[in-house]
Amino acid sequence: MITKSEINKLKRKIESWGGELIIQERNNFHLPCAPFNSNLGLNFRGKKIYIYNLDKVSFGDVIHEMGHCFATKSLPNKSEEWNFFGWEYALVKNLRLSIKKWIENNSAYMVQYKYLPNILNSKNLFDFGDLNKNIRSSLLKERVAYAKKIKIVNKNNEAIAIR
Ligand SMILES: [Zn+2]
Repeated sequence: MITKSEINKLKRKIESWGGELIIQERNNFHLPCAPFNSNLGLNFRGKKIYIYNLDKVSFGDVIHEMGHCFATKSLPNKSEEWNFFGWEYALVKNLRLSIKKWIENNSAYMVQYKYLPNILNSKNLFDFGDLNKNIRSSLLKERVAYAKKIKIVNKNNEAIAIR
């Protein structure tokens, strides 16, 4: 579920980066779908992000596709998503969207245990939503620092488009 005001904020940002957010509600479609979410589509070359079902898409989903489109030069099936997780977080803050909602939207995001060196656990992967508040904050801090290092977030904590 995505609200009108969330859509407007995302749309303005995407357009400012030379892309398009297209709402195209339908049940049957043959356009290329974003990985793992058939309610969204991404045209990487054309910088077009499609929402096919407003009820089943969250703003966090769109932010993630924006990451695929603007925060990496790699094609969606070849990109390292973890590289732009901090970018996604920075963008949520830049657009004054709800961090709480974004965390909920990403509750099933898989974090690999190697990024949580202080935790001993037999599981290899953690759901982002399962992490406690302290771990989550340090993880986000580390990811934003990394995003700055690879220059997809600037020194004013703004997520920037690199393509
Ligand atoms: Zn993805």
